[in-house]
Amino acid sequence: MRRAGAGHPPRAGPRPGASVRPIPPLASIRTESAEALKAPLNRRAPLVFDTRELGRRPGALTRVSRTVPAPAGLGIEVIGVPEGAPVEIELRLESVVDGVLVTGTARAPLEGECVRCLEPVHDEGVAEFQELYSYPDSDGRGRQAAADEEEGEEAGFLEGDLFDLEPVLRDAVVLALPLQPVCREDCPGLCPDCGARLADDPEHHHDDAVDIRWAALRDYSRTLGSGERPREE
Ligand SMILES: [Zn+2]
Ligand SMILES: [Zn+2]
Repeated sequence: MRRAGAGHPPRAGPRPGASVRPIPPLASIRTESAEALKAPLNRRAPLVFDTRELGRRPGALTRVSRTVPAPAGLGIEVIGVPEGAPVEIELRLESVVDGVLVTGTARAPLEGECVRCLEPVHDEGVAEFQELYSYPDSDGRGRQAAADEEEGEEAGFLEGDLFDLEPVLRDAVVLALPLQPVCREDCPGLCPDCGARLADDPEHHHDDAVDIRWAALRDYSRTLGSGERPREE
């Protein structure tokens, strides 16, 4: 009968290959690696906001307005905020027991393409959002617990007095965008025959194309009518 570890001299303590270091609790390992991956917030970044003024006093309230250049990729394939376009952000920051509740609106120009006629669409988008940025526990466990709950979705946490609005802004803007932008509600789209924009030419007809297609049949029926056999091609 073979035993695990057969061939090795008997020894006390951990099995061969096992680490002799004490194993830290799983949660603390994962917290460390999660923090290592995440760069600290830069307080000068356009979408990083400071809550120091609230002083962690529940009930304290402040308002912030800021116009920031749109980050890249703010939108969906057919419509979005051009990179660098001004995004007007208005925030209400309210200190609550667990953190800071951020309620706000973002207003930004939109550029896209009409899904029916492919003409450029210029519009303005307004997105509303609300997010609780929690105070992390002193040992960071709050951060990990919330990350587990959300299964990969990033929960909002304060880093010191700072929070990063960008993920919240992205989600809110994308949700507020029309999935099927149109240049106007009744855009008739493009002519299926020639691709002309029907809004520019509502009386659009294709008599010529129709004639060409029917002409072959007309010739054919003429041939039949005259008693000749149709030409074979
Ligand atoms: Zn259109
Ligand atoms: Zn046409």
